[in-house]
Amino acid sequence: MKAVAVFPQQREVRVIDAPEPRLQSPTQVKVRTREVGVCGTDRDIVQFLYGTSPPGSEYLIVGHECLGEVVEVGGAVQGLQKGDLVVPRVRRPCPHATCPACRHGHPDFCVTGDYTERGIKEAHGFCAELFVEDVAYVHRVPAELREVAVLTEPLTIAEKALREVRRIQERLPWKPETGRAVVLGAGPVGQLGVMALLRRGYVTTVYSRSPKPNEKAAAAEAVGAPYLSSKELSVEELVRRAGAPDVLYEAAGAAKAAFETLKVLAPNGVVVLTGVPSHEEALSLEGAALLKQLVLKNQVVLGTVNAADSDFDMALDDLGRFRARWPGGLERLITARHPPEDYCDAVTGRKGGGGIKHVITFT
Ligand SMILES: [Zn+2]
Ligand SMILES: [Zn+2]
Repeated sequence: MKAVAVFPQQREVRVIDAPEPRLQSPTQVKVRTREVGVCGTDRDIVQFLYGTSPPGSEYLIVGHECLGEVVEVGGAVQGLQKGDLVVPRVRRPCPHATCPACRHGHPDFCVTGDYTERGIKEAHGFCAELFVEDVAYVHRVPAELREVAVLTEPLTIAEKALREVRRIQERLPWKPETGRAVVLGAGPVGQLGVMALLRRGYVTTVYSRSPKPNEKAAAAEAVGAPYLSSKELSVEELVRRAGAPDVLYEAAGAAKAAFETLKVLAPNGVVVLTGVPSHEEALSLEGAALLKQLVLKNQVVLGTVNAADSDFDMALDDLGRFRARWPGGLERLITARHPPEDYCDAVTGRKGGGGIKHVITFT
């Protein structure tokens, strides 16, 4: 079967003819891949900065944001049948008996670092015509979400983050009014974060680098989030226009912008860090002033990665809600669909450059 693989030793990325996977347990399903989204993690993998092949394999099949269709079910599988659309989760638990996170069904909080991730770390991904997965790691997708369900995995970032924010804010001895949010960055994680924040009632503003007009700004404003350019407006002006954010949602992986904007976080606010910076930026930090601010304003810094079972379910529910509330809003986040042969161009933006979310399609 056709698959896209990276060969870290040879520093090559190419379409290969991989062995077709077979069911190896009665709780597994075989899935025909429909679509695979690509993101910054994939960019790092094709540049050989990140990603680890499974033990004994000279290559890693890439792809972790996937929508597929069930073509075979094991004898013990319940609740799924041939023809169902599914989205698989990415991370699998570490083997250690002492890891409380993995032993409690939350490899997203793994403490040993020995988890595996399909398409990223020591397990083949989904950018192949077929894959096999245990039914415990796949989520059934309503047929009406077929066009947008490839966005499920990137949306789970926001679902997990906002679930944590809600729990954190339960520390406040009153029920806080849902407040203001500022999203840093306007890529797919930022855009889906905007929708998730709006859905929860936050008055949400996007603060990102590129000046308007651009398609990311248009996508954000189409769902009701004003877009302000950090090239044109200082953080002080951002606050004058949008108010001090109760939630600052960092989705750009930009350290300098994150620390700069953190200065205007509202009292009792939470800064959520979701972006992984890919390079070091020269940054001068007034450490004492920052610590003083965090202490005197009861602020919380939250880093979050990956997502749990329930976050995938919530993401699928939310995709349905977003579609009803903003017709076409999700669809416009998918900039272009490419064949597997164009994987590298899609990831690095050489083909259909720029845009928001690029997707590989298997037919
Ligand atoms: Zn991704
Ligand atoms: Zn673990």
